[in-house]
Amino acid sequence: MSKLRLEDTDVAHKRVLLRVDFNVPLASGAVADDTRIRAALPTIRHILAAGGRAILISHLGRPKGRPDPGMSLRPCVPVLQELLGQAVAFAEDCVGPPATEAVAALKPGGVLLLENLRFHPEETANDTDFARRLAELGEIFVNDAFGTAHRAHASTEGVTHHLKPSAAGFLMTAEIEHLDRLLQSPEAPFVAILGGAKISGKIDVIANLLPRVDRILIGGGMAYTFLKAQGYGIGASLVEADRLDLAGELLKRAGGKIVLPADTVVTDRLDVPARTLGAVRTVPVEAIPGGWTGVDIGSASVQRFADLLEGARTVVWNGPMGVFEIAAAADGTFAMARLLAQLTAKGAFTVVGGGDSAAAVTSAGLADRMSHVSTGGGAALEFLEGKVLPGVAALSDA
Ligand code: AMP
Repeated sequence: MSKLRLEDTDVAHKRVLLRVDFNVPLASGAVADDTRIRAALPTIRHILAAGGRAILISHLGRPKGRPDPGMSLRPCVPVLQELLGQAVAFAEDCVGPPATEAVAALKPGGVLLLENLRFHPEETANDTDFARRLAELGEIFVNDAFGTAHRAHASTEGVTHHLKPSAAGFLMTAEIEHLDRLLQSPEAPFVAILGGAKISGKIDVIANLLPRVDRILIGGGMAYTFLKAQGYGIGASLVEADRLDLAGELLKRAGGKIVLPADTVVTDRLDVPARTLGAVRTVPVEAIPGGWTGVDIGSASVQRFADLLEGARTVVWNGPMGVFEIAAAADGTFAMARLLAQLTAKGAFTVVGGGDSAAAVTSAGLADRMSHVSTGGGAALEFLEGKVLPGVAALSDA
C-alpha cells in the first residue's frame, strides 16, 4: 500500500482524530450488532497503548443534516466501554464548544466519542470550514472507516487538507491490501461469484473483473436478466428490461467466462416483506413456468459452480445467490459460503465483498473461515470497479 499506515505514525501522547465506521444498526435505542465497533478496536487500542488520546468521529444512518435523537451515537458508548474495559467520554456535538471542551478534558490514553457527523449538512457537502473545525480537534488524522471511503465527505476527504499526517488505520489497511491483491496480483485460477438483485449496480465490477478472472459465476436476481438475454423464458423473475442488450453484450464479450445457473428454485408467490414463499419447485432454467419467480439457484447450479471452483486459488464473492432473507430461498447462498470456506482451508485466497454476502457468511458462522470479509459494501464494490476511493486517495503518502 502506498499510503501512510498507523503503525508507521507516531501517535504517542498525540490527540488522534480517528474516523471510524460506527454506522451500526440500532434497536430500541441499543446497538443491535456491534461488528463495526469491534472492527475498529485494534486501531483504538493501538492509539491508547501509545498514550495517545483517541477522538472518535463517525456517522450513523442518514439524519438529513440535523440532529435526530433516533440516530445518536450515544448507544455506542456502553458497548465501546465494555469492549475496551475503560470509560468512554461522549460529546453532544462533533464541533463547537461541546467538542472542544470534551477534547480539552481528555487525558492521555483516554477515549472520546463525538456525536453523529451527519447532524450537520456540511459533513456530506464536504464543506471546507466544517472540515477545518473537525481538523482542529486533533494533531493527527487516522481513517479506519473503509465503509465510507468511497464518499468524499468532510470527515473522510476534506479533513485531510487541514490535518497532516493522515494515516490509514489497521482496518482500512487490511481492506485495501486484501482488495488490492484481487486486482493487482491474483493467483490463478481466479473465480468471481456475483449475485444480488440487479445487474445495473454491478456492470462496472463485471467489466473490471472480466479481463482478470478465469470465470464469473452469476446467481441471484441478476442471473435472470442474463438468462432472458440468452432467450430463456424466466416467468415472473426479476428482470431489468433496459439491461437486456447490455447483458447479451457482456455474455458475448466474456467469451464463455460468464457462467449462469443450470437450475433455479421457483415459487408461485414471493412475499419479501412477510418473508414467505408460496409453492416451491426446483426446475432447469429452460423450464421456468410462466408466472413463477426464481428465488434461488438450485442444487444442479451449486454443483456446476462447485466444479468450476475446484482448484481455484483466488475467489471473490459479492451478492447473494437468492432471496436469502427467506430461509426457503437461502440454500444456494449458504452452499456458496460453505464452498468458499472449504477453498480457504485448501489455501485459496477468498474475499467476501461486503453487504449481503458478508451478512450471509456471518449468519452461516463462516466469516472467520474466509481470508477476508469486507466491512464495506459500496466501498468494496467501487474498489472492485477499479475506482480510486476519495477517502483513501486523500491519505498521506507513505
Ligand atoms: P444487492 O444489494 O444488489 O447485492 O442485492 C441483494 C438483494 O438481492 C438481497 O436482498 C436479495 O434478497 C436480493 N435477491 C437475490 N436474489 C434474488 C432474486 N432471485 N429475486 C429477487 N431478489 C433477489
